[in-house]
Amino acid sequence: MARYINAVCRLCRRHGEKLFLKGTKCNTEKCPAAKRAYPPGQHGQGRRTKLSNYGLQMKEKQKVRRVYGVLERQFRRYFEAASKTKGVTGKMLLQILERRLDNVIFRLGLGLSRSQARQFVRHNLISVNSKRVNIPSYLVSQGDTIQVTAKDKARNKLKENLESAKDRTVPAWLEFNSAELSGKVLRLPEKDDIGQAIQEQLIVELYSK
Ligand code: SF4
Repeated sequence: MARYINAVCRLCRRHGEKLFLKGTKCNTEKCPAAKRAYPPGQHGQGRRTKLSNYGLQMKEKQKVRRVYGVLERQFRRYFEAASKTKGVTGKMLLQILERRLDNVIFRLGLGLSRSQARQFVRHNLISVNSKRVNIPSYLVSQGDTIQVTAKDKARNKLKENLESAKDRTVPAWLEFNSAELSGKVLRLPEKDDIGQAIQEQLIVELYSK
């Protein structure tokens, strides 16, 4: 699958805000978005142009896509699925993104970033309801249990991650048992559970044209 392989910190600087793509580095003074708060490149510190409505909508969509590490085509599919469900389309879109298994592993603190969490899933280290799942885009449902099936070295790595992520709080829609390295989906996520400013209505306006 195609994926973004360039320096991810450039994305944060381009968006003008932290997207938390790098794990522990994001909360340190080494974060480039905090150290150099202007767009990357030779003309990054030059004159800023005001974005049109379309530009703002596009920027918000790209931001959310990058936060969750989703490619354009899949993101569009999520939007279409969200628009067919009952409820507010923008909020449903965010709910679908939050329900992705790689995001859940990240939210539980087992992965320091969503991309690392995705690797854990791909490497068969995670099971859902006692069945191994190696599809990062798998959508969890209410009542699902998520277990770490990794052994030895990989299990220790996940424990180390938990230690590094101990300052992060597990969102209220999930429950985590650190002794057993397992989690449970208590309910489906709401926008308020995300903890990051997202203007989802801009994405809805963009795709509704
Ligand atoms: Fe973004 Fe994290 Fe890099 Fe800072 S360290 S620029 S928040 S990815």
